[in-house]
Amino acid sequence: VYNALQFADKNSEVVYKEDTVITNPQIVRDVVKISGYRFKIVPRPDEENDEEIDKDAYPAPPAPAEALKPRPPVVCVMGHVDHGKTTLLDSLRDTSVVDSEFGGITQHIGAFEVKLSSGDKVTFLDTPGHAAFTAMRSRGARGADIVVLVVAGDDGVMEQTVESVRMAREADVPILVAINKMDKPGVNIEKTLQSLAQHGIVCEALGGDVQAIPISALKKQNLDTLVEALILQAQLMELKADPGGAVEGVVIEALVDPRTGKQATVLVQRGSLRKGAVLVAGQGWAKVRLLQSSEGLPTDVAPPSTPVRVLGWREMPSAGDYVIEVDSEKRANEVMKWRSNQRMKEKQAEDSEAISIKESTHREQYRRQLAAKRAAGRMRSRQEGPRQKMIQEGGEPAIHVLVKGDVDGSVEALLDILETYDDSRVKLELVHYGVGQVTPGDIEIAQAFDAVIYAFNVEVPPPIAVEAKNNNIKIKRHNVIYKLVDDIKSEVSARIPTTL
Ligand code: GDP
Repeated sequence: VYNALQFADKNSEVVYKEDTVITNPQIVRDVVKISGYRFKIVPRPDEENDEEIDKDAYPAPPAPAEALKPRPPVVCVMGHVDHGKTTLLDSLRDTSVVDSEFGGITQHIGAFEVKLSSGDKVTFLDTPGHAAFTAMRSRGARGADIVVLVVAGDDGVMEQTVESVRMAREADVPILVAINKMDKPGVNIEKTLQSLAQHGIVCEALGGDVQAIPISALKKQNLDTLVEALILQAQLMELKADPGGAVEGVVIEALVDPRTGKQATVLVQRGSLRKGAVLVAGQGWAKVRLLQSSEGLPTDVAPPSTPVRVLGWREMPSAGDYVIEVDSEKRANEVMKWRSNQRMKEKQAEDSEAISIKESTHREQYRRQLAAKRAAGRMRSRQEGPRQKMIQEGGEPAIHVLVKGDVDGSVEALLDILETYDDSRVKLELVHYGVGQVTPGDIEIAQAFDAVIYAFNVEVPPPIAVEAKNNNIKIKRHNVIYKLVDDIKSEVSARIPTTL
């Protein structure tokens, strides 16, 4: 849903729901079927957009079965600290580089491929542990296909082993166990398998269907068997993707290199990435200038499940961003513009939410104060004569203010300034605030609290001004924040008691 919504540009809306029927056939532009849902991309009424949307109705519908080709599995290594995750990845990476005819230039680009002599490949995410596993998932992207659970055979199942099992389960990603440190004395496979079974991971030796491969990451023993087991697992899962059509993928890592500039590693998930392609990803976009494999070699094409370093970013994406290919730089710019508008709208929504939370807190405060005031008023009428207005119930001199402003932003700014007010001689109390003109309700509150009304960039309708005057309420209008603040300060100093 998220991916499809990203593609609803400013002129279109995505209506989704399984089997939703839109009765007006005129507005139905396209139907995209994805993950069992139907998305109908429709133009907003009254707006011309036509061709553009039809051309870029991403994500593309699922490829027809005949276009799907097997793809290598993407693997994430997880397990307890010190059980050998990093060592395993280092050893696997070394193996892959030594096999390359140019060999030797290990690059950390966030993921790498291991090739077997059979031609089969496995892609490993280069950062071990939870972070790599969750980073991609957090933005809705599909991450790893298989988790390799590294368990040190001498140590057995530990806290983070269990945690990793839980995470893989939740994400519905199958597990393959690597029992590590087989070169060490004190390894107890039987015990390790038993305790894994207690956590629901029943390996083949105990009659279950989880493969467990004993290895030594340090001595590089049995790593081929591990990779073969992963390929077998991938075959069972029938991992497939369409190597044709527009590219889709996910950003694994993004950084600015002092020598080569902006670069990001993209794990291709669909289509084949080539030089010259135009990509958009989150808030970034690129015209691909160069592709580099994890061995540091220039490469022409990256089919599904291949991690490649992409150079040519005009704006940087972030790790976890969903990548798609668009057909022109013009389109990339449109998408960027639309997304930045979206962000602005989201920001505005957040701002007004923040302000309404503040508002309700203050309203609550106001209610309590009003109740206290009434109670005090009743007491007073039974006690001696009138007091000085500036002396409040607690006997403390105070100024009460009510703030009205033209927009959320200006009110927020004023509230922030008022919050920093700190004067031990006179207490400043904000009794109410809000966006818009001064209203009869404001006058009522100001009267109850003996407050000064500050109106920032807003009108005071004449009847309100008259009512305020009749009730001896000051309304002060300003268009410049610092002048308003100066005004409050002078009101404050007018109230500093001279005889204390
Ligand atoms: P991580 O925290 O899971 O990434 O664990 P590391 O890869 O950093 O390994 C922790 C320690 O275990 C290091 O001192 C490694 O040298 C050691 N180690 C890892 N794999 C093996 C192994 O197969 N055999 C032995 N003897 N030590 C290992």
